[in-house]
Amino acid sequence: TKWVYSFGDGRAEGRASDRNLLGGKGANLAEMCNLGLPVPPGFTITTELCAHYYANGRAYPPELVTQVEEALEEVGRIAGRRFGDPQRLLLVSVRSGARASMPGMMDTVLNLGLNDETVEALAADSGDARFAYDSYRRFIQMYSDVVLGLDHEVFEEILADEKARLGYDVDTEFSAADWLHVIALYKERVESELGEPFPQDPRQQLWGAIGAVFSSWMNPRAVTYRRLHNIPEEWGTAVNVQAMVFGNMGETSATGVAFTRNPSTGEKALYGEFLVNAQGEDVVAGIRTPQSLTEAARLEAGSHKPSLEKVMPEAFATFVEIAGKLEAHYRDMQDLEFTIERGKLWMLQTRAGKRTTKAALKIAVDMANEGLISREEAVCRIDPASLDQLLHPTIDPDAARDMIASGLPASPGAATGGIVFSSDEAEEMKGRGEKVILVRVETSPEDIHGMHAAEGILTTRGGMTSHAAVVARGMGKPCVSGAGTLRVDYRAGTMTALGRTFRKGDVVTIDGSTGQVLAGAVPMQQPALSGDFSAIMEWADAARRMKVRANAETPVDARTARSFGAEGIGLCRTEHMFFDDERILAMREMILSDTEEERRAALAKLLPMQRADFVELFEIMAGLPVTIRLLDPPLHEFLPKTEEEIGEVAAAMGVDAERLRQRTEALHEFNPMLGHRGCRLAVCYPEIAEMQARAVFEAAIEAAASTGEPVVPEIMVPLVGMASELSFVKGLIEGVAKTVLDEAGVKIDYLVGTMIELPRAALNAGEIAREAEFFSFGTNDLTQTTFGISRDDAASFLEVYRKKGIIEQDPFVSIDVEGVGALVRLAAEKGRARRGAMKLGICGEHGGDPASISFCEDVGLDYISCSPFRVPIARLAAAQAAC
Ligand code: ADP
Ligand code: MG
Ligand code: MG
Repeated sequence: TKWVYSFGDGRAEGRASDRNLLGGKGANLAEMCNLGLPVPPGFTITTELCAHYYANGRAYPPELVTQVEEALEEVGRIAGRRFGDPQRLLLVSVRSGARASMPGMMDTVLNLGLNDETVEALAADSGDARFAYDSYRRFIQMYSDVVLGLDHEVFEEILADEKARLGYDVDTEFSAADWLHVIALYKERVESELGEPFPQDPRQQLWGAIGAVFSSWMNPRAVTYRRLHNIPEEWGTAVNVQAMVFGNMGETSATGVAFTRNPSTGEKALYGEFLVNAQGEDVVAGIRTPQSLTEAARLEAGSHKPSLEKVMPEAFATFVEIAGKLEAHYRDMQDLEFTIERGKLWMLQTRAGKRTTKAALKIAVDMANEGLISREEAVCRIDPASLDQLLHPTIDPDAARDMIASGLPASPGAATGGIVFSSDEAEEMKGRGEKVILVRVETSPEDIHGMHAAEGILTTRGGMTSHAAVVARGMGKPCVSGAGTLRVDYRAGTMTALGRTFRKGDVVTIDGSTGQVLAGAVPMQQPALSGDFSAIMEWADAARRMKVRANAETPVDARTARSFGAEGIGLCRTEHMFFDDERILAMREMILSDTEEERRAALAKLLPMQRADFVELFEIMAGLPVTIRLLDPPLHEFLPKTEEEIGEVAAAMGVDAERLRQRTEALHEFNPMLGHRGCRLAVCYPEIAEMQARAVFEAAIEAAASTGEPVVPEIMVPLVGMASELSFVKGLIEGVAKTVLDEAGVKIDYLVGTMIELPRAALNAGEIAREAEFFSFGTNDLTQTTFGISRDDAASFLEVYRKKGIIEQDPFVSIDVEGVGALVRLAAEKGRARRGAMKLGICGEHGGDPASISFCEDVGLDYISCSPFRVPIARLAAAQAAC
């Protein structure tokens, strides 16, 4: 087997597309060689060897030694040197490089091959003893740290002591003799710590470093990183061995990093930093303050330290040319590493540069406009989930700010609400239609429901990766964490700041983009999306097949959805319309009614309110489809729960508390999710569905008149398992339609369809499609009922399942393609087989998840529907799915 691939001198055995075999770094080094760029020669030991190594009890195949020796010989030939030969000294770096860039792997070892003898050769060779000893002491430090496992602080200490003793400020003040002394101290320390002298044999050093790279694949940091990023263990890492070039050979040498475009703004300008007389790691390590590459950047930063453009104009010019060439070749913004050795430029790495969302949008749009990539490619370059950061409201910059504290900007966007100190309170107040900010010292997994209920989260302790921050970002909720000057007293129910005391319900505003906490409500601006964002969205719209609708029932949500480009409402949950004060009263009257007559009387009160809601929605969505779902939750959700609440509600309604209690008890269910809900309500209480249908048709007539656009309501019956259920409810709806339309003397088109959210419905979708004019996949319930897992109870074990590798993804977040997805596919096929072009959509939470959206495209759904803020994400993901 070929385990080793050489590169150098304008040729390479590998290329960029060999990333799986050679790792990202190795493949790109090979590619740069093939492009004829100046790259120090070297070779890559493949990722396959890593797999072999672990499959064989951490042993190498016998032929590896020969292959490495041959490659090393070749490197020496190109460099005009020989590894281990003091006369023609060749030093190398040993660099790890997996397929995906992976922090947590072994750090790079530079200057390998130095020992007490060769260091003298390096000194003689370069004519610079100071440089030679500096390189050697770096090597001892790095090698001992990453290969021998000796903490680098040991060396930092020695260095700091020497610096202090000699009265130096910076490392560059050390003379050759000083470094020689440091080297002696380092070696002594290694021997006393490890009981063995520092390895002097270059080959022993090399194999030590190679072994350390392969072993680091399994170190705990790397294992954790892989688990978090779903990187399979089988991938393995490659090892790159490369001839050293020296950025620390005096004032005409330098090392630096660059991006071909600005990674935070996307601006088309070379952006980067360098240090004169330094080696690779120094730039990132922040040992000295680096200098700007270009004069323009230097001026902008107001720095007096000269730019590379100024100090090494020739090497700079070559670098600019190479950077341009690489960007054009890879057709993407590149992140580059380079070193200048005595005026000669060497390239050490290139890869696609990481960037902010804003920069990603600008770069993609610019590159498409430059003709470097197609519009479709531009669309595919943006991670849909990353748009989330751009889509949140912000505080009006002109607003007066009464700042009471500041913390970390843990999750973007601003939010206003009354403060609450527990998650239960948050949920309760939200249930009453109030907006709340959850204030905690810190949050834990028990707070998830409160975080869901809150508009924003404020903690007094914890950083950017605290529980609150991570979860809030995941939910797309604003969060300020670690606002340390705030004092929260749970027992007293107060929050104090700057001598002011805030109690439960007092309104504050948090700005998760700046970390500010403000007293009171502050005017907000809806997100202003840049021209680049609109351009990408436009191109995405041109590329996608599926329509994108929103799940919305309030006018605010509907307007937000439209402003984000929703093409209709895919799910209007009518029960949400019954929670407000006046309505819940009528709702409770209805529920407490003993006779149909009483029930109808209570429903008559709800009718005008419900109708007005629908009129508004139809008007906002003028000309676009609106799907309205009949009442879905079990009725007891509208009733008071605690003894205390029962008393209050009974008094407010003027009914006997005992009667209310009995009714509440009678409606109690052991498993409400599988209880008296969905179309089962319409079957038992047809008058509820009839009232809702009447409200829909009357509203449609009114809105059609006011907007001049035809309204085609889509009425959706939830939780249907049998065609006969749907047939019964559809009969009710048709009856109402006839009555209302006859009364008004108009004709409107409407559709009656169903949600597919029970396995039985999916299995019998053909039968159901006889009645249903459309299907909407309710994948939240379908996931619950397919797995037999309740979403509200799943958190406690799903995480364990994930950790133990039993499931990869939470099926409530990303659709379970094999199970739930199979039912969706089956139902779609059966439905279409029965009723040709019936409209198919999805309205579960999955409608906003890019992976699930790709599945929907695959199945051929007509539209996806998601929460308003996810509409742009869904538009982009739908386009990518179609590309
Ligand atoms: P990382 O993945 O952490 O960037 P690298 O392998 O790229 O690790 O190397 C770390 C630093 O060492 C970089 O600045 C790189 O440019 C530098 N470096 C690596 N190999 C050599 C070499 N052969 N000669 C000079 N500098 C090198
Ligand atoms: Mg690097
Ligand atoms: Mg449902």
